[in-house]
Amino acid sequence: MTGRPAGAPGAPGVRPAEAAADGTAAEPVIRLDDVVKAYPLGAGDVVAVDHVSLDIAAGEFVAVVGRSGSGKTTFLNLLAGIDRPTSGTVRAAGADLGSLSESGLAAWRGDNVGLVFQFFQLLPTLTVVENVMLPMDFAARIPPGRRRDRALALLERVGIADQADKLPAMLSGGQQQRAAIARALANDPPLLLADEPTGNLDSATAAAVLDLFARLNAEGRTIVVVTHERDIRSLVSREVTLVDGRIVADRGGAPATTS
Ligand code: ADP
Ligand code: MG
Repeated sequence: MTGRPAGAPGAPGVRPAEAAADGTAAEPVIRLDDVVKAYPLGAGDVVAVDHVSLDIAAGEFVAVVGRSGSGKTTFLNLLAGIDRPTSGTVRAAGADLGSLSESGLAAWRGDNVGLVFQFFQLLPTLTVVENVMLPMDFAARIPPGRRRDRALALLERVGIADQADKLPAMLSGGQQQRAAIARALANDPPLLLADEPTGNLDSATAAAVLDLFARLNAEGRTIVVVTHERDIRSLVSREVTLVDGRIVADRGGAPATTS
């Protein structure tokens, strides 16, 4: 294990991981240990993520920045268990993702991860409130009789309760992204992962969406967001910069453990 020991004090200004119920210090919400993701190509492998190790503690709000092709999406997909590493280990929200089957990963993701994408990815034939209820139906944590009310409360929270019964196509981009964020919160996951969530929004709408992430972080949720927004620096607690799949800068958070 190359990471710092669980419970070691973070840098000033970083919220320490909360103590677990049994009194031991909590492990980081995310721990990557020497993770490589390579795609085989005819001319040789494309190494999208290149020997990355890092810890993210509970309550951190992390921006991942870097040019197009630097490995940001691959990095996020590894955290979400959407991609599996070529080598190295990913622990997230209490699980060693490499030890889980595909169905185990899907169940883990449903309980622990809220995902937000650049193009919203709402199902076009379902109403907004039905889109928000969908992850509740998959995970079956929220009793069926409470799902609609919970979805409406989440839409209220993101400011679009009045759009609940419309189809996604009737909403503006900003409203669709708010709906997608409500959907990401459906099962109250500890971890929110967002891949360029403002990439398809005008700057005023983008700022409002980033503000919403900041509020969700202030409530204690751990957030990792891939973004090009310069304004994000004033909101996040940490900024990780990728170049060619490697972490070249890690500002503001716990010390990097990159080897
Ligand atoms: P970013 O999100 O920063 O633009 P990506 O993670 O999408 O970067 O891609 C990183 C590198 O991995 C790029 O060189 C990209 O072409 C390559 N890559 C990503 N996905 C695949 C794939 N499925 N097959 C082959 N190469 C891929
Ligand atoms: Mg990308």
